[in-house]
Amino acid sequence: MEEKRVKEREIIKPALKIIKDNPGISTSELIKKLQKIVELYPGDKEILAGRNDTKFSQIVRNLISHKNYNKFGKCIYEREQGRNTGFYINELGENEIQGYEKSEIKEEKLDNEFQRKVRESNDYNEIEELMKADSRIPEKMSRSNNSRYKVDPRITKTVLKKNNYICEIEKLTGEEHKTFVTNKDVQYMEGHHLIPMKAQKDFKINIDRSDNICCLCPNCHRAIHYGTIKEKRARLSLLYNSKIRGLNENKICIDFEELINNYYI
Ligand SMILES: [Zn+2]
Ligand SMILES: [Zn+2]
Repeated sequence: MEEKRVKEREIIKPALKIIKDNPGISTSELIKKLQKIVELYPGDKEILAGRNDTKFSQIVRNLISHKNYNKFGKCIYEREQGRNTGFYINELGENEIQGYEKSEIKEEKLDNEFQRKVRESNDYNEIEELMKADSRIPEKMSRSNNSRYKVDPRITKTVLKKNNYICEIEKLTGEEHKTFVTNKDVQYMEGHHLIPMKAQKDFKINIDRSDNICCLCPNCHRAIHYGTIKEKRARLSLLYNSKIRGLNENKICIDFEELINNYYI
């Protein structure tokens, strides 16, 4: 098996944001800040032979020196500060970050709407009904919204109910994730698609199905959406391990790293 390492791709977005927030940042400061955000594997911490540098530092150095052929390099510029070189974001970089933010805002709005629909909806009482809903063919929302697929809030509602409105991470770790009682007289929980719905285009089988939906407390759910990569990984690996068999049984196959790299970074 290939030794696990942090990939260049994983640090592009956080590195751009760090440079934006810290104009003139040096390479070593950038490395320090990134180390707090990403999970380093033992291989990343290895010191390079004959140098006072880790493999992870090397990845960051490579990233910022690839000026001409990768997108990251085109988003930053450097300026001499005495003996050192500091990095700044340029217009292309600003646009790139704005693009990320716009899509995050869109996702956030859609998710709020979805959680509300789930709260207001009924569940599937009959297992046959649920199985039928799970196995429907993926269907696009409308012609104007070509990238979105239809979701059925009743499936998520059924999953929340099946979990007795207890956070799945609470069950997996034994920590208590208490929230509050809603006006529907149940503990407040949110539904989350482990393989996110934006991934539907990559799957023939409907991923809006009970095996792919998690019942999460808002804290865990927000961490998965807005946390550092480290926070996301910690929770997603627990959920992935508990759900992957069920997904595989329904011919939905995805590797954990693939899941993270394609849909969570
Ligand atoms: Zn979610
Ligand atoms: Zn939780």
